[in-house]
Amino acid sequence: MTSEATRIQPFLLTGYHGKPTQGKVTIQTFDREQRIRRAVTGLGKWWGVAVVTVFIPVAHFVLVPSFLAYGGWQFFQRLGTTEVATDARGTCPDCGADQVLELAARWRVPQPVTCRQCHRGLRLSLPS
Ligand SMILES: [Zn+2]
Repeated sequence: MTSEATRIQPFLLTGYHGKPTQGKVTIQTFDREQRIRRAVTGLGKWWGVAVVTVFIPVAHFVLVPSFLAYGGWQFFQRLGTTEVATDARGTCPDCGADQVLELAARWRVPQPVTCRQCHRGLRLSLPS
């Protein structure tokens, strides 16, 4: 059974001018078993691609080891990822544009984000 744990996390967006605004992000938490399953799935996918590229002449000398290495890297990344952030929404404190924010794959605070509208660097942090 999968016990998918998600929570809504409010955050603050700070820009150069104006008052910080509030936003919300959905955080998905993985327990040990889910992390291992995700890691193995990722490894299987990339190693599967590596097997397919064996049949591409010449290019396989580069592709096969690359995909094997990438699969291994993904494996350890996923194994260590306990929290993933999705559906981050906030309002830019500088230009006032309400938008979906592009976050790093692994949830961490504070983290820098860029406004899609005015392209200014904003800082995402937790409300104290
Ligand atoms: Zn903006």
